[in-house]
Amino acid sequence: MASTKYIFVTGGVTSSLGKGIISASLANLLQARGYSVTIQKLDPYINIDPGTLNPYEHGECFVTDDGAETDLDLGHYERFLNRPTSQANNVTTGRIYQSVIDKERKGEYLGKTVQIIPHITDEIKSRIQVLGNTGNYEIVITEIGGTVGDIESLPFIEAVRQLTWELGDNSLVIHLTLVPYLSAAGELKTKPTQHSVQKLQESGLQPDILVCRTEHTLGEDIKKKLALFCNVDKDSVIESIDADTIYKVPLLMREQKLAEVALRKLDMPTSEPDMRDWESFLKRLGNPKAKIKIGLVGKYVELKDAYKSIIESFTHAGAANETEVDLEFIHSENLEESGAESLLKDLDGILVAPGFGERGIEGKLLAVKYARENKIPFLGICLGMQCAVIEYGRNVLGLNTAHSAEIDRATKDPVIDLMEEQKKVVNYGGTMRLGACNCELVPKSLAHKVYGKGMISERHRHRFEFNNAYLEEYRKAGMAFTGINPETGLVEIVEIPDHPWFMGVQFHPEYKSTVHKPHPLFVEFVRASLAHKTQA
Ligand code: GLN
Repeated sequence: MASTKYIFVTGGVTSSLGKGIISASLANLLQARGYSVTIQKLDPYINIDPGTLNPYEHGECFVTDDGAETDLDLGHYERFLNRPTSQANNVTTGRIYQSVIDKERKGEYLGKTVQIIPHITDEIKSRIQVLGNTGNYEIVITEIGGTVGDIESLPFIEAVRQLTWELGDNSLVIHLTLVPYLSAAGELKTKPTQHSVQKLQESGLQPDILVCRTEHTLGEDIKKKLALFCNVDKDSVIESIDADTIYKVPLLMREQKLAEVALRKLDMPTSEPDMRDWESFLKRLGNPKAKIKIGLVGKYVELKDAYKSIIESFTHAGAANETEVDLEFIHSENLEESGAESLLKDLDGILVAPGFGERGIEGKLLAVKYARENKIPFLGICLGMQCAVIEYGRNVLGLNTAHSAEIDRATKDPVIDLMEEQKKVVNYGGTMRLGACNCELVPKSLAHKVYGKGMISERHRHRFEFNNAYLEEYRKAGMAFTGINPETGLVEIVEIPDHPWFMGVQFHPEYKSTVHKPHPLFVEFVRASLAHKTQA
């Protein structure tokens, strides 16, 4: 394969402009022309990974097949490209410094003074090129987290400056900015973009393409002005107008010819992108024939980003069923105060979300009980599955002290407990059961019907497990264990066969749902909720 081309995406003016979505949309348009593309995110914080971050800090922690705990933008990359990412796709300042310091301790710098330039920047440059060096990709898009001018991003910007110099025509810089609309003046303003580009130029980087987030169409004059002040071609000023769904952004970028301009600048042939599947997904998404209400019970509901992949999985599954899924976010602590009936009675399906720690647990147990007793379709994910087990233990088996050892260390009935090897772990970072594990499904079970096969692989992120000492007791009381890890014997899926649709999964199906491949668990959960609504 000819040498890999590198596209760098930087951001200016403000954060939250959607660099991840722009990067994913560009990748999507390149992939739809037959190019093999991957996207990488550089995060300028000192944590090794977001695994130890509270979801309120940074939103959901996305997990890859190889067990990397990563930024939620990687979820967008997978959902838009339908291709798995890996540890190499997310690099933090912490990881860069850790490896440089490790090398220093091993004496690999031959007595030299270790410095940001060249040692840290060299490490960044080599991490950027890791994916290209696999030979699997014609184009690597690297998104640089943060906003230009941040102290934290400086070494990354400097590494990109060096690399674009070395790569010459094989690289490209895209700068995403905001063109605000001042309603009092009735005008779009280009000055923040001009200043942002100046900031980038101060660091020695010249953007080749400007992508401008805006609430109003830019118009030729604004584009001309930006081109003139920022040293870019006029057709390289790309308007990114607000869209009602992120999934429309690739089509908006197609209209604006983002990928065409990028390919021309990289001296690569261009053709018409094949967006038929994408368009038919959007058509189904935009023209639902039915509507259902699903309650998402969790404790981080104030911040929707904490449940990003679950929300997107419902978008995919809703479109697959031509059904609008109205997700109602229910704070589990509110359930404790107001009781289940008042908050859950209008729902067609109930999902109890993943999570950590004690807060809100009793509310989650109330939600499980309500779904179980009222035969409302139920999906419990990770902690949600553990809650289903605890609830069944307490209310069906009569084990009043059934609990998870995570919440009550001294409980007499630790139906959810740590495995022996987890008991020895002392560190919090990167020590959970992480990444893809196989799971064997019991023939004729609901799980088997949902997946349509006997062996599946799903991603994990948890410390605690179903305690197999209780397996027989639960079986006798009517709970079915329909997914088992064939290597360890650990329980992966629980069901209640005499309930219309009740499933708890120890893994995270939401990490694997994409536009091209909506996850079967979500597709069937939506279908069951729709059936529940029509019967009601
Ligand atoms: N806190 C639970 C555990 O560590 C569940 C984790 C989760 O829901 N991701 O096992």
